[in-house]
Amino acid sequence: MQEQSLQYLVVSNLTNVFYVTGFRGSAGIGVCGLTETALFVDPRYTLQAREQAVGVSVLEQKSRLLRAAGNWLKKRGARAVGYDDAHLACAAYRELEGSVGSRCVLKPAAGLIEELRTVKDAAEIQAIRNAARLTSRVFNDIITLVRPGVSEQDLATEAEYRMRRLGAEGSAFDPIVASGPRSALPHARASSKLLKESELVILDLGAILAGYAADMTRTVFLGGPSGRVRRIYASVLDAQRQAIAAIRPGRPGGSIDAVARRVLGGAGWGRSFSHSTGHGVGLDIHELPRLARGVRSPLRPGNVVTVEPGVYVEGLGGVRIEDTVLVTDTGAEVLTSAAKDDWIIS
Ligand code: ZN
Ligand code: ZN
Repeated sequence: MQEQSLQYLVVSNLTNVFYVTGFRGSAGIGVCGLTETALFVDPRYTLQAREQAVGVSVLEQKSRLLRAAGNWLKKRGARAVGYDDAHLACAAYRELEGSVGSRCVLKPAAGLIEELRTVKDAAEIQAIRNAARLTSRVFNDIITLVRPGVSEQDLATEAEYRMRRLGAEGSAFDPIVASGPRSALPHARASSKLLKESELVILDLGAILAGYAADMTRTVFLGGPSGRVRRIYASVLDAQRQAIAAIRPGRPGGSIDAVARRVLGGAGWGRSFSHSTGHGVGLDIHELPRLARGVRSPLRPGNVVTVEPGVYVEGLGGVRIEDTVLVTDTGAEVLTSAAKDDWIIS
């Protein structure tokens, strides 16, 4: 904030509100000053906010939280206030603008908190570690149900149910179960399709615990895979392992992506790898930093990213292998632990 000459920052994105205040309700506006933080909530949330937002002034307001925040800033004589231009709707912006007073300049400041969120502290890492362990455990349960005749939807529902049974707050995203030709769609949703013999099946799962997500994908084959399917699987696994081995602080996200792309390109699957190698994971399932083409920002200890190369062949299907990985002081630690070598279900 000081670098950008901001006296205050209005925090409107709820994930960011949680990050700066600890409040996890569904409506609230945070205002960060250099020495104080305020949280505006409606009466439904006053008690919860007082409990969760430790060290934060909780201010109750019946409605129009942004206007209340603006009035509060005006009373303090604020002259330079940042706001989240990537998330604030036009109408909400006008409400803020109309209340801060004409002497206050509103400055676009999107990404300030997202940048802080990229480096996880010990408690955050522990939460992601727990989510990753739970996700791996659910996968190891679910894999015993994967057989011909079961529907994708059944497996996805079972995965969500078991996450909750094991103590997760929920699933970080709708679990992806995609079989046969549908596995060639990188973000297929589970359908009523039944699994069949001689099909690839992609299972992409992630639990949320204490607000933090994990993300993991495994691909299995039902029956005896052809030589082509074996080669694809071996290439994707090789790309994933080499990319993980390349992770260390100081290396740009783009260079990790390049490692995976080089391995798959060398094996002849370059054009079938249609997405980036990975993304940050934390309070959001997709956040910074990205492991993608052209990303120059260097990885830092405490970053948590996925590494998830994939190859997708129309008509045949796809293979993706994904782990959630912590960037350590010296390299990488893989947090999701389900096996990747025994992928053939006979
Ligand atoms: Zn995933
Ligand atoms: Zn992912």
